[in-house]
Amino acid sequence: MATTMSRPTTDLSAAIEHLGLSMRGDTVQPDDATYDEARRLYNAMIDKRPAVIARCVDVGDVVAAVGFAREHGLPLAIRGGGHNGAGLGSVDDGLMVDLSPMRGVHVDPTARTARVAGGCTWGDVDHATHAYGLATPSGIISTTGVGGLTLGGGLGHLTRRFGLSIDNLLAVEMVLADGQVVTASADEHPDLFWAIRGGGGNFGVVTSFLFRLHPLSTVVGGPTLWELDQAEEVMRWYRTFITEAPEELNGWFALLTVPPAPPFPEHLHMKKMCGVVWCYTGSEQDADEVFAPVKAVGPPALHGVHPMPYPMLQGAFDGLYPPGLQWYWKADFVRELSDEAIATHLAHAKDLPTMHSTMHLYPINGAAHRVGPNDTAWSYRDATWAEVIVGVSPDLSDAPRITNWARDYWAAMHPFSAGGAYVNMMMEEGQDRIRTAYRDNYERLAAIKATYDPTNLFRVNQNIVPAGA
Ligand SMILES: Cc1cc2nc3c(=O)[nH]c(=O)nc-3n(C[C@H](O)[C@H](O)[C@H](O)COP(=O)(O)OP(=O)(O)OC[C@H]3O[C@@H](n4cnc5c(N)ncnc54)[C@H](O)[C@@H]3O)c2cc1C
Repeated sequence: MATTMSRPTTDLSAAIEHLGLSMRGDTVQPDDATYDEARRLYNAMIDKRPAVIARCVDVGDVVAAVGFAREHGLPLAIRGGGHNGAGLGSVDDGLMVDLSPMRGVHVDPTARTARVAGGCTWGDVDHATHAYGLATPSGIISTTGVGGLTLGGGLGHLTRRFGLSIDNLLAVEMVLADGQVVTASADEHPDLFWAIRGGGGNFGVVTSFLFRLHPLSTVVGGPTLWELDQAEEVMRWYRTFITEAPEELNGWFALLTVPPAPPFPEHLHMKKMCGVVWCYTGSEQDADEVFAPVKAVGPPALHGVHPMPYPMLQGAFDGLYPPGLQWYWKADFVRELSDEAIATHLAHAKDLPTMHSTMHLYPINGAAHRVGPNDTAWSYRDATWAEVIVGVSPDLSDAPRITNWARDYWAAMHPFSAGGAYVNMMMEEGQDRIRTAYRDNYERLAAIKATYDPTNLFRVNQNIVPAGA
């Protein structure tokens, strides 16, 4: 809602001034010159106007900001990397707790851990850990926030080898609704630690994450592309191959339009195709053998797979998807890719509405399957893929078109799904969809929410309603 707001002249104005004085970071209000930049989210389809933005630089600032929202009854949103599709890092007429100034990463190469500040992006983490030849699982775009991605689960290039991001999380430091600063780990507040591994920002503001790291420096990665008229054959092959391949090999499937830019050859530019983006973490000597079956299917129109530093693969799509595009996405978990499901995908692939619009299937197997559905809040360990259908465009006037395409495509695919969706790839879709995402973990989440946030202060998220509320 684009209204012109000026500084509040009531008690709130004095309280905001007081908040500003108690913080080391800045507060930003609607008539400040930096307001529009500070409130901007990655998804340009979402245009929220907070009453005040608290740009936190340390834990003390977060405690002050959380206390301010609690005492003044203001809606509170937590902004990590600002990538959330539904725009849940901001809130109209409330307080945005902006963690983006909190960006430190400390690597302990002996313990193989990284302590990551709450506002880091994955690019920050990869840059710091790569210097030591180490890495931890994240997603597929380096500008995504560690905060939202991790607390929702974390699927990416390393899922089959090392599991979800939450499977590599050892502890968090967080600010609770009552202002306490606590550590949650297997030993301290284990119930809270269970809940934040999948339960999103429902339980407090995470000011730092402690991740386990793995020796990983160079990967053999990149895309293989096939013509759309080969897609049926490729998808039938892929559904078996990716569940049986060595865990060192990850590959997410995409229906896409080839970007009109290098490294893609000109004759493929703007062609609708299908592809798999690979990340092989085994030895370079074994790569030829591992990729031999990939090159035998089709054959591919392009096999652009090479050794590269892991952060290069992580940043490979950053330029294609800069901040400021319109995004609308719908998701589901998928157990099986039946012939009928493949035919339904392909009926929609030819109608991809823009160059950026796409459908991805992210594998959930290998190491991700060695954690049980009730071991963390992230329930769908029995799924094989997370499917996401995403309409994207730089053009505001495309918003209805990409939204309708994603909704229609999703509605056609939903009957083939496992039921629920990955919370990090949902828009605001209501309580039923949130419950379905957590299945039998929801009741336990609601009970833990009632313990740590009984008034639902942290409700700008895929919200878990406190039990008994
Ligand atoms: C281009 C793009 C690529 C993506 N790729 C992947 C991918 O490969 N794998 C994947 O799993 N997901 C991916 N996602 C989805 C992503 O995980 C979610 O959008 C996630 O919410 C982004 O986190 P953020 O911190 O950037 O978001 P924000 O908008 O800043 O925050 C989203 C929500 O997360 C919570 N939150 C964030 N930080 C904290 C914190 N420190 N403490 C408490 N709560 C916090 C809050 O509830 C907030 O409302 C992608 C999204 C985009 C737009």
